[in-house]
Amino acid sequence: MRAAAVASPWPSYAGSLYHFPPRYYKVPSSRTHVCISSASSQAQHGGKTWDCPSPVWPRVVSGKTRKDRKNNQILASVTDISLEQSIESASLPKGDIWSVHKFGGTCMGTSKRIQNVADIVLSDSSERKLVIVSAMSTVTNMMYELVNKASSRDDSYISAIDNVYEKHIATAKDLLDGEDLAIFLSQLHEDITNLKAMLRAIYIAGHATESFSDFVVGHGELWSAQMLSYTIKKYGKPCCWMDTRDVLVVTPTSSNQVDPDYAESERRLEEWFTHQRADIIIATGFIASTPQNIPTTLKRDGSDFSAAILGALVRARQVTIWTDVDGVFSADPRKVSEAVILRTLSYQEAWEMSYFGANVLHPRTIIPVMKHSIPILIRNIFNLSAPGTRICQVPVNENGDKKSLETVVKAFATIDNLALVNVEGTGMAGVPGTASAIFSTVKDVGANVIMISQASSEHSVCFAVPEKEVKAVSAALHTRFRQALEAGRLSKVEVIPKCSILAAVGQKMASTPGVSATLFDALAKASINVRAIAQGCSEYNITVVLKQEDCVRALRAAHSRFYLSKTTLAVGIIGPGLIGGTLLDQLRDQTATLKEKFNIDLRVMGITGSSKMVLSDTGIDLSIWREVQKEKAEVADLDKFAKHVYENHFFPNTVLVDCTADTNVANHYYDWLRKGIHVITPNKKANSGPLDRYLKIRTLQRLSYTHYFYEATVGAGLPIISTLRGLLETGDKILYIEGIFSGTLSYIFNNFEGSRAFSEVVSEAKEAGFTEPDPRDDLSGTDVARKVIILARESGLKLELSDIPVRSLVPEPLRACSSSEEFMQQLSNFDTEFSKEREDAEAAGEVLRYVGVVDVVNEKGFVELRRYKREHPFAQLSGSDNIIAFTTTRYSNQTLIVRGPGAGAEVTAGGVFSDILRLASYLGAPS
Ligand code: ADP
Ligand code: ASP
Ligand code: MG
Repeated sequence: MRAAAVASPWPSYAGSLYHFPPRYYKVPSSRTHVCISSASSQAQHGGKTWDCPSPVWPRVVSGKTRKDRKNNQILASVTDISLEQSIESASLPKGDIWSVHKFGGTCMGTSKRIQNVADIVLSDSSERKLVIVSAMSTVTNMMYELVNKASSRDDSYISAIDNVYEKHIATAKDLLDGEDLAIFLSQLHEDITNLKAMLRAIYIAGHATESFSDFVVGHGELWSAQMLSYTIKKYGKPCCWMDTRDVLVVTPTSSNQVDPDYAESERRLEEWFTHQRADIIIATGFIASTPQNIPTTLKRDGSDFSAAILGALVRARQVTIWTDVDGVFSADPRKVSEAVILRTLSYQEAWEMSYFGANVLHPRTIIPVMKHSIPILIRNIFNLSAPGTRICQVPVNENGDKKSLETVVKAFATIDNLALVNVEGTGMAGVPGTASAIFSTVKDVGANVIMISQASSEHSVCFAVPEKEVKAVSAALHTRFRQALEAGRLSKVEVIPKCSILAAVGQKMASTPGVSATLFDALAKASINVRAIAQGCSEYNITVVLKQEDCVRALRAAHSRFYLSKTTLAVGIIGPGLIGGTLLDQLRDQTATLKEKFNIDLRVMGITGSSKMVLSDTGIDLSIWREVQKEKAEVADLDKFAKHVYENHFFPNTVLVDCTADTNVANHYYDWLRKGIHVITPNKKANSGPLDRYLKIRTLQRLSYTHYFYEATVGAGLPIISTLRGLLETGDKILYIEGIFSGTLSYIFNNFEGSRAFSEVVSEAKEAGFTEPDPRDDLSGTDVARKVIILARESGLKLELSDIPVRSLVPEPLRACSSSEEFMQQLSNFDTEFSKEREDAEAAGEVLRYVGVVDVVNEKGFVELRRYKREHPFAQLSGSDNIIAFTTTRYSNQTLIVRGPGAGAEVTAGGVFSDILRLASYLGAPS
């Protein structure tokens, strides 16, 4: 029967293989003898022979105990000590003499790391040390995988368990030698043999119960604890290891959790201690027993919880949790690169953080230690110089009386893979028991409700559950409320899949004015739609539910708003030509200052031309952007480009800067803005294109927090659009706008004073680089017409480009010239006509100026060559300056004039740059 128990171990395992050494239960000492000395009893204990504590060798490791148990002589002496005697003679010392350490999987990842752990334990000068360890990293996953494979009848579980075996053999061989190594390897071999038998049984049954699975997966901790204890023992220090299944008693609850039985665990620990009193105890994390002595676990990542329970049982001075990060960050450092380490956290804050997904700490870790005010220290085993995060009872006046938002909001955490269930209907209002019926139904399917929100109108109750549980929840609610749904008292039970929770955590944050406003403002500005909100009465957190795809962006937006007081912006530059290239150079020269002085962090995540683009995950080094573009470019793809910049891993806010003059690029603005991507451009094509598209963009922009800035479309860097906006927004009425909007034509007419022919002035302008390659593009007046239409629409007129009459300066016969050279040659044929017009004006004391006009009162716009008196401001222009005069209700006798250079790469790029900074300030940068 015993042999059969190994081949098909589980039925008898529950009953006898996994009995504790009977002396724990005050059975007659004769049975103690049976347990320890009988060879057959060792066989029946299978993998459990090693957990019999030995009362006669305090200060030896369990492995030694195990080996020596095989020595009959010594075993005889074991039985010489009666159980009652041993209990009476020992009591577990408690209190400050104990220092508790927990080393996570990453700390135990390799032989070198385990050696490092041993060094840390040895360097702690505390009188007594209790060290809780996780399995070597990845081992628990490998063990779960074994069970999955076996239960789905995949026989690769055999090679998988061999991998686990080899990993531990190799590690042990690196760390240990001689007798200790032999003992460990023989135990490992025995365990693996038993596990193979058990997995075979699972394979045959095609099913594994939770207890089977818990038994298998817990071996990772059993092995890591033994290896560490042997390693420490090498230094001659009294050290033993503890199989915590002998000590920790927990009751599994319905929702993948366990509740510790502190009284029974304390009793068993005291009992255990009567037999093993070494100063250093290495205990297995993660594993425990049920009250029926069935092996179980504290569930994934449960070693932190093990450490907290054991720390509480010995009333330790402190529990140090060693991991691979410098402490608790203000947000998951894998998602927010700028997260900062928190020096202290209150117990409540730490609990909220871990509950809402900060897996640096298991959520159940806090309760046991909080009861005894034992501080937890989170430290980085790979960076001993970092002081870590201290979690403790924060003194009430830690931050003084002053509550700044930064001290109130400590951190952010997220949980993914949730679904929102919304139960809605007018029949719920005022009907007692609806909420209770909903949640008892949810409870009956065993689903875990993570947050609940109910509007005070009582028309809807919505709550979040893990996505994998939502199908069952929805089905159960439909069944439970069938009648109410049919009668119309409930209108729907709706599931919103693919959601995440973002929680802002901090002491007293919910009672501090302005916190939620700032949080929601940051989310709105990053164009994130909030599906549901809950603010715990605990005042420690505000929870929002959002679309999963928005979650990381939301996390970054909220984090940077509260924590960094830095405005971050991911920038994509389209068209690195003259203007785009100049803008990149300006950004290069200014980014450091912006970061240091104004807390604005701009990162160019991509640059694309029409054929090539470069993308970066962290920001292109602008000091070498030209080289990068030459060397690292890939084929341009505007959709891929936009997606890359938008879905960057650092910044919640994205802006695409279109420095082209391309209609195709402008055609994308609507979609970009709809996604929440801000757009900034000097490209006139969108605003002067079809009216309906323009109106659609503006409507979208007004309904969202997404910004579309285009100051440089008119007058380059001059404040034309913003002046116009300022007038309109402050209630002024625009009557008339008139201006010289073309730098080229400004230059030409400022210099066409009689000394030179018109064609000569044009070629001079062309040579000086003031014109387009084909000067007809300037002389045709279309560009000015586009500016007129932009200002007209900005003033509220609904005009199309075709509604603007334009006086073209390209003589009719020359419009068909095939090249600009041919045009330039023939232009002189028309000099007399131009001269005549100029002379007529001069005779009347006037000059010619090429202007665009928006006649708001008469709802018209036009572009023409006008005459102005010599003393008129337009007549006194020089160089290629622009000048724009606004006549408004406020500025009616004397117009409001804006004048200055209105063309050229530097000033245009400067205008675009200032739009970028305006955007940053809209997003929260200090002014
Ligand atoms: P261990 O194996 O040591 O138990 P875990 O992987 O369970 O380590 O926990 C540490 C990890 O938690 C870190 O590597 C980090 O990536 C992640 N983490 C998530 N949120 C936070 C946070 N707010 N602060 C620190 N670490 C966090
Ligand atoms: N080894 C277990 C796990 O990976 C427990 C722990 O490491 O906390 O879940
Ligand atoms: Mg962990």
